[in-house]
Amino acid sequence: MSEKRKSKIRTRFAPSPTGDLHIGSLRTALYSYALAKHSGGDFILRIEDTDQKREIKGSKEKILELLETFGLKWDEYYVQSERVKTGIYQDAALSLVKKGYAFYCQCSPRNPKTESSGKVLRDPCRDLNLKTGAIKLKVPENKIVSFNDFVLNKKISWNTSSVADTTLLKSDGFPTYHLAVVVDDYLMEVSHVLRGHDWLPSTPIHLLVYEYLGYKMPAIGHLTDILDPEGGKLSKRKGSVSCEALLNDGYLPEALLNFVMLLGWAPKDNRELFTLSDFVSVFDPDGFQKNNPIFNRDKLDWFNGEYIRQLSDKDLASRIVKLFRDEYALSDVLKVVPLVKERIKTLREFETLAGFFFERPGVDVSLLGGNYKEHLSTCLEAIKSIPWNLDSLNEALMNKIKEKGFKTGDFFMDLRLAITGKRITPPINESIIILGRDETLERISALL
Ligand code: GLU
Repeated sequence: MSEKRKSKIRTRFAPSPTGDLHIGSLRTALYSYALAKHSGGDFILRIEDTDQKREIKGSKEKILELLETFGLKWDEYYVQSERVKTGIYQDAALSLVKKGYAFYCQCSPRNPKTESSGKVLRDPCRDLNLKTGAIKLKVPENKIVSFNDFVLNKKISWNTSSVADTTLLKSDGFPTYHLAVVVDDYLMEVSHVLRGHDWLPSTPIHLLVYEYLGYKMPAIGHLTDILDPEGGKLSKRKGSVSCEALLNDGYLPEALLNFVMLLGWAPKDNRELFTLSDFVSVFDPDGFQKNNPIFNRDKLDWFNGEYIRQLSDKDLASRIVKLFRDEYALSDVLKVVPLVKERIKTLREFETLAGFFFERPGVDVSLLGGNYKEHLSTCLEAIKSIPWNLDSLNEALMNKIKEKGFKTGDFFMDLRLAITGKRITPPINESIIILGRDETLERISALL
C-alpha cells in the first residue's frame, strides 16, 4: 500500500446495476463522498455487477449520470465484471481452499439446501474434498466474530453457528458479492465502508473472509433504515423513492441532496440548508443518528421551495423547459417565472399553476358567479383600449368596479376563472398583462 494512500480516508459507493438508484442509495453515496472529501480523501465508484443475471440494461449508465447530476464526483471508477478477467477473485478463493477455509461444492446452485433455506447451514460437500465446482466458505462452528460499527457506534457480534456456508466463487468463475466486496475493498485500500442496514447480515461472512485471507479490515458502518411515513421501511412498492422519479416529479437535485443529508445525520447546530460543499466541510461521523429517519414529503417540498426561490429566474426557467422537454419556449417561461417562483414547490407545479398561459383552459361555467356576464362584459369594456401595462389595467378595473358597485372579490374570481379556468392562480392582473390584450379579450368574449 502506498504511504500516501494509507494516510487517506478512502470510501466507496458500490451499487449493483439492478434497477433504479434509490433515495437510500443516494444517501449512502453522499455520506461516503462527504466522509472522504471532508479530509481530502478519495471517493471510489465501483459497479458491483458480478450477479449478471440480475443486471438491468442501462442501469449502470443511469447510476453514473445521476451521481453526476448530484455532483458526487468520483476519483476512481471500477467495474467488477471487468476485474474478473484479472483473476483476483479466483486467486483469493483458491487460497482459501488451499488453507482449508473454503471447499468445492458440486450441488446445483438452484438447490436451496443451504444459504437461502435458512435452516441447513452446513453444506454436505464441505467435508468431501472435491476438486472442482463452486467454492464455498467453510464456516467454523461456535466462533464469535465481531466488529465495531462506526455509524451505530457499538460492537456487533455473531456466533458463527448461525452463519451459513456461503458461496464465494460460482462454478462459472464469477465471484459472489461476499467475496468480491472483501477482495475489492482490500485491493482498493478502502479505509471506511458505509452501507445500508440491510447488508448487516452479510457482515459476519465478510469478517471471516477478511480474517482467513489475512486482510486488514476497513472500518465498517451500517446506515439506519429510512422509514415510510405510513410505517415500515421505505420501499419501491410504496411510492416513488427512485431518484430519477423524484427528479422527474420536479425536485431539484440540490434540494433532494439537502433533504437526504439530514436523513440520518444531524449537524451540531440546527442548521438545515447545506450545499454539497457546505455539507462536506461540516460532515463528521459523530453526527450519525441512531434512530431511523422518516421520509417526510412535506419536508422535501419545503427544501425544494427554498431552492427554487434561490435560483435566478433564468436558471429556473431553463430547468422548467428541460423538465417539460421543450414543450414551452424559454422566452415565454421566462416571462411567467417571476409570477410563480414564490408559489411552486416543485418544477412540475409550473404546469398546474401556469399552464393556462400556454393553452386556453376549459372553463366550467357553473363555477362562475350569478352575474358573471356583467362582470366580464365590463371587463371587456375596461381593457379594450387602455395602454397595455399593469398600472393602467389595475386602475381601469378598479374604477369600473367602483362605478358599477361590484364586489371586488367576486369580480376578480370571475375574471380569474375566465382567463385561467382555475380558482388558484398567479396574480391575475399580472398574468393578463403577460397573456396580452388579444388573447385576454378572446378568452373573455368566448364566455359572453
Ligand atoms: N452491491 C451492494 C449494493 O448494491 C453494495 C453493498 C456494500 O456496499 O457492500 O448495495
